[in-house]
Amino acid sequence: MRIACVGGGPAGLYFGILASQLGAGHDVTVYERFPEGVTYGWGVVFWDDLLDQLGRQDLPTAQRVRSHAVRWEDQVIDVRGREPVRIPDHGYSMARQTLLRILADRARELGVRIQYGQALHDVSHLAETVDLVVASDGVNSAVRGRHPGAFGTDVVQRRNKYIWLGTSRVFGSFTFPFVETDAGWVWAHAYGFDGGTSTFVVETSSETWRGLGFDRLGTDATMRRLEAIFAPTLEGHALRPQHGTRDAAPWLQFQSITNARWHAGRLVLMGDAAHTTHFTIGSGTRLALQDAMALADTLAGHDDIERSLEAYGRRRRAALRRTQRMADSSATWFEHLPRYVEQDRFADLLQRRFSAAQSYLPTAAFLRLSDVALSAPGITVPARKAVQRLLSLGRNAVGRVNG
Ligand SMILES: Cc1cc2nc3c(=O)[nH]c(=O)nc-3n(C[C@H](O)[C@H](O)[C@H](O)COP(=O)(O)OP(=O)(O)OC[C@H]3O[C@@H](n4cnc5c(N)ncnc54)[C@H](O)[C@@H]3O)c2cc1C
Repeated sequence: MRIACVGGGPAGLYFGILASQLGAGHDVTVYERFPEGVTYGWGVVFWDDLLDQLGRQDLPTAQRVRSHAVRWEDQVIDVRGREPVRIPDHGYSMARQTLLRILADRARELGVRIQYGQALHDVSHLAETVDLVVASDGVNSAVRGRHPGAFGTDVVQRRNKYIWLGTSRVFGSFTFPFVETDAGWVWAHAYGFDGGTSTFVVETSSETWRGLGFDRLGTDATMRRLEAIFAPTLEGHALRPQHGTRDAAPWLQFQSITNARWHAGRLVLMGDAAHTTHFTIGSGTRLALQDAMALADTLAGHDDIERSLEAYGRRRRAALRRTQRMADSSATWFEHLPRYVEQDRFADLLQRRFSAAQSYLPTAAFLRLSDVALSAPGITVPARKAVQRLLSLGRNAVGRVNG
């Protein structure tokens, strides 16, 4: 089968790795608009479940990802002026660049061709030469945009502003610094991902963003103002945008994307082109890689390509529903931060932000309900896990209640 993947992010490259192993005669080309080594963003986080899944698919990729991943052991919630709260929770982080290099190297070892510096928008010419076109070109997928109506695309723009920055201050823990300014709250999601660099995603409401003058500041002035706001957290280290991409330092508003249909003929959506989940849940890369696993699996299981594409879309849309709900709850929670940040048990509320119940119950009632559900005497571990799942309390809630 001849396959073209438009977009050399985690989805396109990993699909190349898996598709090239489906059997003899599979021929994969990945087209990536940026030169090799250039990408947007900094580090991403993931957890053991992803490493386990990668290990079941392609061992060399899994081993390289594991050996380059940085492990962090806890989360720190640091509201300026209060004692920081430390919560045990281990996870991993890695530079997007490193992940993409590992995936590209492995793909090439398996015979996948990667054509860097090639932006494709119209793929109609490919349809004549390949059997399958994978649109893995990210959230603003030009390929998807060329087929209005074909996928039933729904885009919801979230209210907060965010900017994805890096810093040389290395955070050993996943750290949430929250700072109250004259114009409102500004906070960051920060974690180290190699020996010398951390991700530092800054988030704030649109009102505070304007109130602090970010709508009028250029890149350098934006960095200096953010460095002043987060000075005690950054301990003198600078913030910097990602260089090399066209969109070097924009503040963005997250776009939550869903598609009712994931394929049109032999054109199929994958990764962020098919769906996004708010970055505060840290799952988009994992989900993009899981899409690749699912499509490779359904292609292996059906002779008819369009039937495999149908099965792939159905399976992934169903699998994603719960994570998308949790991501929406998390995004909404941060949009209503002032409602929670003054509460005594702010750290617990932050940990349990994936639960939609938090937005419609009074805070005290939500805490009581979730505490009782998680720590009622005699509750068995499976029952507790079921309640945690039902309320979407997040992976840390049980650990917190158990101390
Ligand atoms: C602030 C922020 C923080 C995040 N943190 C995490 C995290 O901690 N953990 C996590 O799992 N996820 C995280 N994510 C989500 C994650 O970055 C994405 O979900 C993931 O990158 C999706 O992979 P993808 O391959 O589908 O798309 P992308 O990684 O966006 O890759 C798409 C590729 O297509 C290329 N491309 C675009 N248009 C064209 C074209 N016309 N022709 C050719 N190439 C093209 C792009 O250059 C890019 O390389 C975060 C996202 C944001 C915004």
